[in-house]
Amino acid sequence: MIPLAEPDLSGNEARYLQECIRTGYVSSVGPFVQRFETDFAATVGVRHAIACASGTAALHVALQLAGAGPEKLVAVSDFTFIASANAVSYTGADILLVDSESDTWNMNTELLYDEVVRRSRLGLRVPDVVEVVHILGHPANIQPLLALRERFGIPIVEDAAESLGAAWTDGQQVGTVGDVGCFSFNGNKLVTTGSGGMIVTDDVDSARQARHLVNQAKIAKDQYLHDSVGYNYRLSNIGAALGVAQLERLDQISEAKRQIAHRYGHWLRDIPVSPPPKATWAHPSYWLYSVLVCDDIVAPEQVVSSSGRLGIQSRRLWPPLHLQLPYRSTERIGGEVADALYRKGISLPSSAALTENEQRIVCKRLSELLTIRSRR
Ligand SMILES: *Cc1c(COP(=O)(O)O)cnc(C)c1O
Repeated sequence: MIPLAEPDLSGNEARYLQECIRTGYVSSVGPFVQRFETDFAATVGVRHAIACASGTAALHVALQLAGAGPEKLVAVSDFTFIASANAVSYTGADILLVDSESDTWNMNTELLYDEVVRRSRLGLRVPDVVEVVHILGHPANIQPLLALRERFGIPIVEDAAESLGAAWTDGQQVGTVGDVGCFSFNGNKLVTTGSGGMIVTDDVDSARQARHLVNQAKIAKDQYLHDSVGYNYRLSNIGAALGVAQLERLDQISEAKRQIAHRYGHWLRDIPVSPPPKATWAHPSYWLYSVLVCDDIVAPEQVVSSSGRLGIQSRRLWPPLHLQLPYRSTERIGGEVADALYRKGISLPSSAALTENEQRIVCKRLSELLTIRSRR
């Protein structure tokens, strides 16, 4: 089976894990946690990084720091993995779903801008926070959100869970322009710690708050004293050990992903699929290489099941949040673009260790599947 996205643990991972066991530091206290945070902050270019047990945990805390809570409204991308919305729900805030734009598949931030202006003119409820997701390794169009923050004081939380290494062409990394940014190190993400996440910010007070909340809001070093309801959201030294080893090879992993994207772009150009977006102002990281098939030629679920039988793992893109049971009656702006992405989108094998030969097989099979059907 050629997998969709498998971690590549061929560097110092085993050595650092051994070190955890040898020294006894297997829990959330230990030298790798701080090293991982320091390395990560330097890698993306922020002042502070706080390691968490998962990307979802990171988002939960980040949203709380940005002011999400009961009676508040958070604008969220409609087309995303459900964790983006669940983290908002944990805070007790309401959600306003915002449709995608076809150019990047990310939140249509111009649509949101116009909607906020319209609502504020009419005295209607406007979002208190925007949570923008950079999906599949492509940065979102951030300018309208910066304008919203400037004009209405709406803070920005970036869900960069899938997009470590993606940047805007001015060199700014995703996750670093909002008030708080979040990353995930789940097993299928660009870099993995088994399960894990990171909160990043340039603001020292937010960083201190985040560190406090992920550690049960503990106020005294050697006593059980707490000043609010915190969370057990710390990353373990074991996870951090993996993370440190993975970060050492980030450039290599990122380069592999870009090569894979480049080859897919080349090898799939004669078959009826649209390549993933690449805006002129974006440096995508191509976490999962995803294409749109013409759904009148073949349904994506057919491609997924047929290629599965041929030993190739692919996967449909997410149903928009407005189709997911917990969010069906959630308020939303648009949703048709997100619907179309779900109707047509599939992700192809994108592991950093995918060989050229395996990739040739994927393209050949896909081409057979799609051209046989288009001739019918
Ligand atoms: C993976 C992911 C998350 C959640 O990260 P976990 O580490 O799995 O909790 C959040 N948002 C998006 C967009 C993701 O892809």
